[in-house]
Amino acid sequence: MGEQPLSGLTTLHVGGAARELLSPGNTVELVEATLDTWSRREPWFALGGGSNLLIADDGFDGTVIRVLSRGIDQVDAVESQKILRVLAGEPWDAVVAHAVEHGLSGIEALSGIPGSAGAAPMQNIGAYGQELSEVLVSVDFLDEQTGERTQLAATELELGYRTSALKRGRRGIVLSLDLRLRESPQSAPIAYDQLATALGVPIGETAPLADVRRAVLALRASKGMVLDPDDPDSVSAGSFFTNPIVSENFARNLGPDAPRWILDPDAPESPVKLSAAWLIERAGVTRGFALPGSRAAVSSKHTLALTNRGGATAADIAELARYIQLRVLNQFGVGLQPEPQLIGLTL
Ligand SMILES: Cc1cc2nc3c(=O)[nH]c(=O)nc-3n(C[C@H](O)[C@H](O)[C@H](O)COP(=O)(O)OP(=O)(O)OC[C@H]3O[C@@H](n4cnc5c(N)ncnc54)[C@H](O)[C@@H]3O)c2cc1C
Repeated sequence: MGEQPLSGLTTLHVGGAARELLSPGNTVELVEATLDTWSRREPWFALGGGSNLLIADDGFDGTVIRVLSRGIDQVDAVESQKILRVLAGEPWDAVVAHAVEHGLSGIEALSGIPGSAGAAPMQNIGAYGQELSEVLVSVDFLDEQTGERTQLAATELELGYRTSALKRGRRGIVLSLDLRLRESPQSAPIAYDQLATALGVPIGETAPLADVRRAVLALRASKGMVLDPDDPDSVSAGSFFTNPIVSENFARNLGPDAPRWILDPDAPESPVKLSAAWLIERAGVTRGFALPGSRAAVSSKHTLALTNRGGATAADIAELARYIQLRVLNQFGVGLQPEPQLIGLTL
């Protein structure tokens, strides 16, 4: 195994070393390093900002390929629609900042999400009423199955709520993204209550791009959801559990005060998304909760984030996650699913 623990490259600050850690600097080197790794037929995974990963304390007996290629270019324009091509290692929030500065609308509510652009399609990042799927045109993809580099249309990625074909097992490396943004000083229509309230506009109205970015960053900071060295609550992988999707009948039995979102209002029996944070709180797990003697704790600002209070191991985080799953399962009969990718451990 290599010497350098991966903990320093993840936002949870946990994880042992990889057998080999490659850091190709640009797209050409990234393709070369990846094809070389695949030819050796050893376990591998791509590492962006490490903000959606829980890596085991034993590390990873294989090759980790860091994605560091950076660049944002406008490659096409049709009237007010502009296509930005973003290299995979570009920090996602730098892409949002660039769009807002250049008067391009469509991703402003995705401000402050940590990590790289290349990882964004993996779970179809989303927040405050926007999702990557609304603007993603295609990705330049190095496909492990064929060893070929292909342009995959967004539709082929089967993007859904915090999921995609990539997350479900289509293996490869995203080399770049093409995003379709609209030239406008105004945001896309605001689709999230809390953001609308913060901006003082009704749902469905727009607001200046920079105002939306500022409001989202402030809301996220109040929940420990922007990386901040001075905020111990941000030593996390963001939301640790996805919001569970259940039948309407099941949701009805939880009582009237359980938050729920009907996914397909036109369907007679639409699936319903529940709030994982609400379920966790109602199962008796409070903000700041930690198992006795453990350095892993629920964020003091948000029950959905599990944090490393300094010196926690991956095993500590996993133990806390299992405890929360059990409490929610016992109380409500709902099995919470982890949002981050787990490497070398299971819950
Ligand atoms: C404080 C905080 C807040 C967060 N808030 C949100 C939020 O609001 N909404 C949201 O959706 N997510 C959120 N997240 C989760 C995380 O930021 C996103 O999932 C992000 O897209 C992960 O990017 P990354 O580069 O850090 O990926 P990593 O953690 O490095 O990797 C995640 C997965 O993607 C794969 N991967 C990485 N790069 C590539 C590539 N180029 N090609 C193929 N596969 C790749 C990895 O192998 C791994 O399986 C939050 C995380 C934190 C720490």
